[in-house]
Amino acid sequence: MPNWMGNIHALRNNVSSCNVPIDKNFRTTWSIQSHHENHPVWRGQKETDGTIHGDVVGVHLESCVSCMKCIEACPTSVFVHWTTDEWGEVVDPAREDDCILCLVCELVCPTDAIHVKGEGGSEETLDSLLHGA
Ligand code: SF4
Ligand code: SF4
Repeated sequence: MPNWMGNIHALRNNVSSCNVPIDKNFRTTWSIQSHHENHPVWRGQKETDGTIHGDVVGVHLESCVSCMKCIEACPTSVFVHWTTDEWGEVVDPAREDDCILCLVCELVCPTDAIHVKGEGGSEETLDSLLHGA
């Protein structure tokens, strides 16, 4: 098992807060407001919906509690720490093009702030990573 997988279960179990989860339908029901780095910035229909960064890897910034577990866990370093005026300390999927769709970030995020595109096709990748197949 790769080193970065070693603490996945511990990370996931260390859950202390539960914000509103990301809207998994954002790619079809939200609007692209702008772009940041190489990814879109989405806004929901309601003001309270908030903001999502990313397309392949979406991060709902209002739900991010800055635990940095996704940064620790991601095998391809998709996420970067980002300090903002609007959301404080969050993560940005700045290198989402490097995502291998393993879903580990979704598993470790304590607030369900992340959604990875095409989950159905990713389960085999996650399984192979978890079990070394
Ligand atoms: S699905 Fe895997 S590779 Fe993609 S951002 Fe999440 S942890 Fe990183
Ligand atoms: S997206 Fe989730 S796992 Fe990543 S820093 Fe924010 S709360 Fe933590």
